Amino acid sequence: MKIITNAKSLMTLFKDYRTMTHEDLEDFYQSKCDYYQDYVGISLIAGSVCSLLYIISDYFLNGSFIPTLIPRFSIIFFIILFLVVTNNTKERTTTVLIDYILGHAVVIATIWSIYHLDIKVHASEGFIIMNLIFMTLGFVSRPREIAFSSVAFILEILISNTFNHYENLDIIISLQIPCAIAVFFSHCLLTLVYLDHYRVQQKLELAMVTDPLTQVYNRHLLEKIVTKNALIDAKEPVTIAMLDIDFFKQVNDEHGHYTGDLTLLYMGQMLSKQTHEDDYVIRFGGEEFIIILKDCDVNNACARMEQFRRDIEVSKDTPVPFTISVGISKYTGDFAKTIQNVDHALYKAKNSGRNCVVVV
Ligand code: GH3
Ligand code: MG
Ligand code: MG
Repeated sequence: MKIITNAKSLMTLFKDYRTMTHEDLEDFYQSKCDYYQDYVGISLIAGSVCSLLYIISDYFLNGSFIPTLIPRFSIIFFIILFLVVTNNTKERTTTVLIDYILGHAVVIATIWSIYHLDIKVHASEGFIIMNLIFMTLGFVSRPREIAFSSVAFILEILISNTFNHYENLDIIISLQIPCAIAVFFSHCLLTLVYLDHYRVQQKLELAMVTDPLTQVYNRHLLEKIVTKNALIDAKEPVTIAMLDIDFFKQVNDEHGHYTGDLTLLYMGQMLSKQTHEDDYVIRFGGEEFIIILKDCDVNNACARMEQFRRDIEVSKDTPVPFTISVGISKYTGDFAKTIQNVDHALYKAKNSGRNCVVVV
């Protein structure tokens, strides 16, 4: 049955969620916030502006606009604060904090207005409607933030009872609790559904930057590194190497393209094995690979590449015997210039008879 299949996939997602590391969770919730914040922000502003219209029902209860004018319009200050903060940051903790500040500002403005109402019996309806705001806020929150906010909401009602003296506090609270539980569980569910979306997105992003043949990165990653200036945070020094298979055309011509492909796959696997976890191995072109070696100076890179060149030369596992030429250069901070230097070093290696490592 469909409901059982859905429950099973939710369980799988829940297990996935439970095993996520602290960093994974941070990234996951940041991604959820980035995805939903525009919707949450617009809904919050619309909700806050709509709360101004309560001045009309205040008029029906008081026979005047004056008593609740300042409490109702106080929300404008928080709307402006909200716009200023959300315009200047996309960071999740600050964004969620300002979202909740605006949400609770609507509650407090309502409590303040109720204080000035002659008839307070309709407070229960007002509070029920406030749950729409908290339902919206849940899209960018962690379940524990939703729970914390729900408790704060109930406390706000209880504390305000000391001066508002609600005629039906028992009804207000007994309606409020199921609403808070519904908001909480609805967003626990949404978190799991978003996790599904997040995993698909991660797989697509990885597929985008992975070379299907050799399973190392492809040029898309290189473009990302350049456009996002991703090496700026890398542990210095950074060295870049370019590897090219010697006479690869002959491998294809003499043994066929399938063997050529197996040779490329072998290169990819060997490079992945022999580089460090945070180095980048990228298939740059047909039989050319770029390796970005972090926390590695030119001498060290030279020794590592020389070892790799020798391993390939003497390996008995290769689909066909082959050799490689390598060009190396220090990363200067200018990626395009460094690639030019590395390319020049590789050109020199080819001109010096191939099967060697050259530094520029
Ligand atoms: P050099 O020593 O100067 O590098 O000579 P080379 O033959 O290796 O270089 P060349 O640029 O003349 O030839 C590269 C060959 O790589 C030509 C192309 O058919 C082959 N190639 C490019 N991509 C692939 C691929 O995905 N699979 C296979 N099997 N061959 C490929
Ligand atoms: Mg070649
Ligand atoms: Mg080539």
